[in-house]
Amino acid sequence: MVAPLRAALVVVAHPDDESFGLGAVLRALVEAGMEVRLLCLTAGEASTVGAGPALVEQRRREVLAAAAVLGLASVRLEALPDGRLSSVPLGELSGMVEEELGDARLLVGFERLGVTGHPDHAAATAAALRVALSRGLASLEWGVPDEIAARLRAQVPTRFTGFARGAGVPRLVQVDRAVQERAIACHLSQDPHNLVLRARLALQGDREWLRLVHRGVRLRRTRPGRT
Ligand SMILES: [Zn+2]
Repeated sequence: MVAPLRAALVVVAHPDDESFGLGAVLRALVEAGMEVRLLCLTAGEASTVGAGPALVEQRRREVLAAAAVLGLASVRLEALPDGRLSSVPLGELSGMVEEELGDARLLVGFERLGVTGHPDHAAATAAALRVALSRGLASLEWGVPDEIAARLRAQVPTRFTGFARGAGVPRLVQVDRAVQERAIACHLSQDPHNLVLRARLALQGDREWLRLVHRGVRLRRTRPGRT
């Protein structure tokens, strides 16, 4: 018997990951009746977009506004070093996840390789996966398939990667991006119209790819061959 998943904790590296990356997925979880909480491990101070003395405060306001648009239940914004999360001991990162976990039985984040090539993303997910594994909780990883990663690398200067091999098969889901777009628009400092984001969303359309792992057992995908 599997307990129902009533609450989820989202673990990301940067303010905007919850919207630019996970926005449509988080909105779908909220609309499914789940209480979705956000833990963001850095304040995003290393961004070269919108850089300036007021950036941290601006990004804090932006993520709070975006979380409200998405319908998230709470936001915890940490101030670990942006760009250097992978140098923070994993135990420290997973300790923050533990502190924020509450009754959440689902951890949500970027795919374990980091999706965009940013090592902070992989570090945030490693912390979430460590907690999921140690507590026997489910984890949901968002990513893009190899084909879309390759097309993005060809179109725009990025280091996107597909899903890690051997960790389970991603499933295709259809999403509505209307609320995600409103959340994205909250992140004015990060340019809601930036080329990389727009190229990815154009390639994805209403499709998202998710990998759900529960107690180390991979769930079977229901749609064949669409990745
Ligand atoms: Zn990020």
